[in-house]
Amino acid sequence: MSEDPAARAQAVGTFYDLMGTFLDAVYGDNLHYGYWADEHDDTPMPQAQERLNDELASRLAAGTGDHVLDIGCGTGGPTRRVARVTGAAVTGVSLSGWQVERAGELAAKEGLADRVRFARADATALPYPDGHFDAALALEVLVHVPDKAAALAEAYRVLRPGGRLVLAELTLARPMDDDQERIWSAMPMSTPPTAQAYAELVRAAGFEVDELFDASPHVRRSHQATRAAVARERERLSGTYGPRVLRQVGNAVLDLQAVAESCLGYLLLTARRPG
Ligand code: SAH
Repeated sequence: MSEDPAARAQAVGTFYDLMGTFLDAVYGDNLHYGYWADEHDDTPMPQAQERLNDELASRLAAGTGDHVLDIGCGTGGPTRRVARVTGAAVTGVSLSGWQVERAGELAAKEGLADRVRFARADATALPYPDGHFDAALALEVLVHVPDKAAALAEAYRVLRPGGRLVLAELTLARPMDDDQERIWSAMPMSTPPTAQAYAELVRAAGFEVDELFDASPHVRRSHQATRAAVARERERLSGTYGPRVLRQVGNAVLDLQAVAESCLGYLLLTARRPG
């Protein structure tokens, strides 16, 4: 997959435009991992995904009257949850026009249209003035962005001094072998940095890092939950995509999942633009 930023942005947008229906079925409103207390916790995936939203929402430290930016918002599940639990206004951006439209419809349906907005925009060139937001969330988006330094510099620019950045990301825990590298780079993904390298990137953008939390054990159950959902939805969606396309896409998701399971960890990072 090309590392040219414009080509990558195009590929990510197209991927989510085309795969929207499938991803909706597999992941629901939250296109991200779940969060479990420990290995005995068998909370179902949708609730565990909301729990991750809540972990992040509390770290944003936002409240009524604040304006939060959700960078890489998907169909806006986390955007709406953050708006609901914090009372803040939240703007979500995604590269996928399909997602932006669907996110807007869902927010309107849930009566949040006055506080929750969406726009099609690139994290590395945000259409907002300096210091516009009180806090920013980046949830499983930087994995798609080759130039992470550019995205972090933009997050820094649009945050007010003192504003928080909360990041939830896949990290490289063990090196990928050639096969794993090939599977991963065939999708619009970049090989993730290690947790420490992420912290360095965040600091290099000007932030102070307040918390670096290895959430790997808490998200591990997401792998089996995703495998089960792909198996279930494959049957149901073969009418929408055709069985051949669905087999290929389902396999691609399962292959990615297998690489993530053996090589990747998960980081929750809270940082602050010095005020
Ligand atoms: N945070 C959401 C979606 C995660 S999926 C959730 O947890 O539900 C990844 C999202 O990142 C998609 O919406 C994709 O369009 C977005 N994305 C990837 N690269 C981006 C970029 N350069 N700028 C803006 N959004 C991007």
